[in-house]
Amino acid sequence: MKKSMITAVLILAAGLFAGQALAVEQFKEQRIIRSGETASIKGSDKFFTGNVRIDPVYPANNAMRSSGGSVTFEPGARSNWHIHPVGQVLIVTSGVGLTQEWGKPIQEIKAGDVVICPVGVKHWHGAKPNTSMTHLSVCEDKGDGVVVEWMEKVTDEQYSEYKGN
Ligand code: MN
Repeated sequence: MKKSMITAVLILAAGLFAGQALAVEQFKEQRIIRSGETASIKGSDKFFTGNVRIDPVYPANNAMRSSGGSVTFEPGARSNWHIHPVGQVLIVTSGVGLTQEWGKPIQEIKAGDVVICPVGVKHWHGAKPNTSMTHLSVCEDKGDGVVVEWMEKVTDEQYSEYKGN
């Protein structure tokens, strides 16, 4: 496969945060995605508040429906409220951040923590007010390429329920 093609596929895989249907790559042999091969993507203002960088990690492939992306939230940045139609696993790889389920208190998450988000549970995730956080996000779709359903922004008032810094 040409490098430009895999790059395009990985950018589509980042649709997990861009609200696009995801591409599924049909690999016929081992595919090593080399570090530095894939361009970073700026998180859309439609789905995020603040500065967010998405680094695609791997696309869905063959019969394997999961795809992965590394997401870095600068201080104060966070996702919109959203749900995942097949759930999500977040593996915090750097820093300390925040996550919240609708109607529940904001919780801190730090490097090494793993968050399992069940199907249909409304939530958000992001950085703390003064520090950044990076997590690996692993999602699956139901065969339609949809891994997230985006909702309204997390308001400053909602975000300020977190009393730390
Ligand atoms: Mn999520």
